[in-house]
Order: sequence, then C-alpha cells, then structure tokens
Amino acid sequence: MIQAVYIHIPFCQQICHYCDFAKVFYNEAVASDYVQALRNEIEVNVTGNKQKVRTIFIGGGTPTALSVPQLWVLFDTIHEKFDVDHCEEFTIEANPGDFDEEKVILLKHYGVNRVSLGVQVFDDSMLEAIGRAHKVKDVYETIELLQKHGFSNISIDLIYSLPNQTVKQFEQTVNEALSFHLPHYSSYSLQIEPKTIFYNKHRKGELHRPEQEEEVAMYELLKNSMEKNGYTQYEISNYAKPGFESKHNLTYWSNEFYYGFGAGASGYLPGKRTSNIRPLPAYIKQALEDGHPLLQIEKIGFKEQVEEEMFLGLRKRAGIDRNIFIEKYGFSYDVLYREAIDKLIEKEWIDENNNTLRLTDKGLLFGNDVFSHFLLEDKDIERVR
Ligand code: SF4
Repeated sequence: MIQAVYIHIPFCQQICHYCDFAKVFYNEAVASDYVQALRNEIEVNVTGNKQKVRTIFIGGGTPTALSVPQLWVLFDTIHEKFDVDHCEEFTIEANPGDFDEEKVILLKHYGVNRVSLGVQVFDDSMLEAIGRAHKVKDVYETIELLQKHGFSNISIDLIYSLPNQTVKQFEQTVNEALSFHLPHYSSYSLQIEPKTIFYNKHRKGELHRPEQEEEVAMYELLKNSMEKNGYTQYEISNYAKPGFESKHNLTYWSNEFYYGFGAGASGYLPGKRTSNIRPLPAYIKQALEDGHPLLQIEKIGFKEQVEEEMFLGLRKRAGIDRNIFIEKYGFSYDVLYREAIDKLIEKEWIDENNNTLRLTDKGLLFGNDVFSHFLLEDKDIERVR
C-alpha cells in the first residue's frame, strides 16, 4: 500500500545562494549522530518483515556528503527494513565532484540504480555566482565515473532564470546537458525563497533577474530542445526518454502513499500527511528518544484527497484518467468538476481526450490558476459520500 520511501540527508559541503531546503554544513560528528537517529526513526516506524516498496529516494542536502562509514549505516538500515532487491527504482541525489570512486562502488554494491546530479548550469562563472562548489569539468568527470561503474540511469537538474542569465547562455547550458544523451533531465526556474542569500540581495535590489518574457523564452527553448531530442515532458519540469520517467516522483504526482524519514521530511500515509522536525539537534534528540520526530500530522480527509488527486494529476503530462479516477474513488470526476472542467477547456487551459484530462501548453503557464478551480467545499463532497 505504501509505494515509496523518501530519506532526507541534510548535509552539504557548501550552501547555495538560492537554497531553502533543510540543510546545514557537513560536520562529521553531527552527521554520525544524525545517521543513528535516522536509523532509529526507520526501525521504529517500519516494523515486521522487510517491506516491499516500488521506489526509494535518498535526497538532500547532499546525501553523498556522508562519509563511507555513515553511508554503510544508512544503507544497512535500508536493506534491513526494505526489500531493495525487488524495488524498481533506487535513487540518490549527488553533486558533481563531491563523491569519489569508493562511494560510487558502494552505491552500486547497495543496489542504487539511479543518480540525480545537481548540475544547474554549464558555466563556471555563473556556478560561482550562485554559490555552487563544483565546476563544469566536475560534471564530465562524475558522469564518466558513474558510467564506468555501470550507472546508466542518470538525471541532470538545471536551473534557469538565474540573475544576469541570458536566453543565449541558457541555450548553451541546455545543449551541453543534452550532449550527454542522458535518459532524464529536470529543469526549474529560480524561485527566490525567504531566508536565502538571494532573498536578501533581492530585497536590497541587487539581484538582476531576467524579465518575464525572457523566462518564458527559456522555458520554451528548453521544452523545444528536449522534444526535438526525443524527450517527453512527462511533468511540468521533467523530461525523459520513454521508460525513464522518475517512478519515485510519479508516486507524488499520482497521489500515492510514501514514507518520509529524516529532518524536515514529509510523508503521506493513509489518512494523514506528516512533517518532521527540521532543526537538526531537535530532530536527532526526538528520533533517538522514541523514533517519532514529528512536527505535525495533518489529517487528510476525503475532500483533500480528491482535490490533491486533481492538482497533482494535472502536473503530469499523462494527465488524469477518468477510469483510474473512478477505480480509486468510485465516481467520475465529472460529478464534482464538470462545470470547472468546461470553463477551463473554454479558456484552452486544459483539454479532454480519450477520457483523460490534461493541462495544455497554455495551461502550463497558469498552473496555480488552473489548480484553484479544483478546490471543493464540504457541501460538494457530501454529494458523493
Ligand atoms: S547543494 Fe543542494 S541542498 Fe545543498 S545548498 Fe546547494 S542546492 Fe541546497
């Protein structure tokens, strides 16, 4: 029933100027305590025989910032509690240049079969300007090392709409990324989040971001280049060759259940969403004490579940299949949403073919406006209970 596992490793060798993820500078002693705390959290919450899951994703932070002995503890715990041999996708996030051959061999040994690399741009001066620690040459060396050890399922993350970035510069980044012929690429536009270095600069008027038309041009350039090279945009920000779509991320967008372990991690279990404590000392203390380092449990009722099915499903380019919806909920989405759907079709923000609702290219640009049409009131949901 629970399809996926997310494990958060909040350590980084550097802090990027735009990042608001749960992370701190790597410190060996703290990381060792953290791994023990994580071990306890997993052991307390996953009881009984090894559990079968479709996907495992170790994200961060930078998971490969952990030392080899710390990685052993982490991977041994995962293998004790989950049936890794029958897991379809086992991903780890990594930064170019931050892991060596010993760690690559260790990942292979423990069954990791997908690596997601935070590349961001192919431009050394821009990498420095956004606070990244790696250089472009590290990307080449890391991919070569991974491929030498049999990793073929590699994904690259890119960011666009960076300060002072031109469309031409982004085009060069996309072309260089595509020259690796990898099976998967993700690309996000820069978001200025509170409590980041970029946020402070932005408030002082020191951040020169591309105009909105340039951002749209970058998005379109990316999409066209990917499609021209045989990649399908299977989610707003994700492109893959057939069969290489991230199964783990599809769990989120398909509104399926998953565990979330680690500081600041979120989980989605039957009837509830959970979020863990984010500050490291508090997380470690609580996880070691009783294995339940929870900050919040949000009850997810039937109404929220249906709403999320629509928001998340529309993020996928495959859209929402009416028959799968009926199978899951026992009624068609038409019962609750026919009027909203017709309105959105008229605006050309979604289309409906072969019993499937999809966001159109135009709708992709108005994602949040589209999603707001699928909010329900309690009285609506009474009609189908
Ligand atoms: S490496 Fe990743 S998680 Fe760490 S600071 Fe940079 S963007 Fe954030």
